Amino acid sequence: MFTKHDNKPFLIAGPCSAETEEQVLATAHGLANAGIDLFRAGVWKPRTKPGGFEGVGSPALPWLRRVKQETGLKTTIEVATAHQVYEALKHGVDVLWIGARSTVNPFSVQEIADALKGVDVPVLVKNPVNPDLELWIGAIERIRNAGVTNVGAIHRGFSTYAKSKFRNAPYWEIPIELRRRMPELPLICDNSHICGNREDLHEVAQQALDLNYDGLMTEVHPTPDAAWSDAKQQIMPFVYTEMINNLIVRRESSSNPEFLENIENLRHKIDEIDLDLFNLLARRMRVAEDIGRYKLRNNISILQTTRWNEILEKGFDQGRSRGLTDEFVEKFLAAIHNESIVHQQQIMSASGSLAGEQKH
Ligand code: PEP
Ligand code: MN
Repeated sequence: MFTKHDNKPFLIAGPCSAETEEQVLATAHGLANAGIDLFRAGVWKPRTKPGGFEGVGSPALPWLRRVKQETGLKTTIEVATAHQVYEALKHGVDVLWIGARSTVNPFSVQEIADALKGVDVPVLVKNPVNPDLELWIGAIERIRNAGVTNVGAIHRGFSTYAKSKFRNAPYWEIPIELRRRMPELPLICDNSHICGNREDLHEVAQQALDLNYDGLMTEVHPTPDAAWSDAKQQIMPFVYTEMINNLIVRRESSSNPEFLENIENLRHKIDEIDLDLFNLLARRMRVAEDIGRYKLRNNISILQTTRWNEILEKGFDQGRSRGLTDEFVEKFLAAIHNESIVHQQQIMSASGSLAGEQKH
């Protein structure tokens, strides 16, 4: 259900929250000709702090039925409890989604899954707020185990303490790994909650399409500045239409022989460079092992923080002048450093067991 059709991504759009009947219908009518596949609205809102607008609740559900009657658009809302599932189904909501704050909690996900048993309604599972792929996969499995056949994933980014231009850091490697582990699972990018602003929405949507995502979920409001939740990231229906029209949808592959030959040659080059990298890494580990033996003879500890800082600082400098991001350099060097420590530990523990044997 949540897949590309005619080379067009599966589009979900609508307000962060259903606020009033007029606001919901104005958004839906504004989107009716934008070619969207599903109209979203938050009815129960999980807010960080109490006292804010926590959603209209069940009284908003008939408004969504009106959306369907007047525009023909199918509807989707977030559900977080069994009661919310029953309410949504009773009012004919077509698709349910599980929010990031529920995906983190297996009790909540299981409660929702139990409420869905015997009702094969399509469900989208947002990533958990924390960057934990297993938790995301676990939630998807719980919903599938309840007998739901139409399941998709929504990537909405991850909470971080670090400052960044994004409200929720995308960590693209996590959904990419999800794709590798569950290749048939439709994957949708919620560019609104990743960005937390209007300016970057197009860029993030394009990045998702470049990674062959199946669709997009975006928050749209008739008067964004006056929205009762997530005002900074919502856009007007005409701005949304413009954004969608400016996206480039790329094909997954081509049967053009010239393209195939060129891509094959380039991939061959990549494979050769990867092999060079592995040979270099093996060489580096041999040197690390020599250092390990030398430290052992002199009774010096393996981990030396000042040396590690020195490697990192030098790495940032060398990486920057070669167009590599600090983020990559740090991860790359940390992985190499960690592997070196493992090799040195093997040397130390082998000598330990040798000493043990000698005692007997
Ligand atoms: C939302 O879609 O409005 C929402 C609350 O999202 P998330 O669960 O991703 O924070
Ligand atoms: Mn929102």
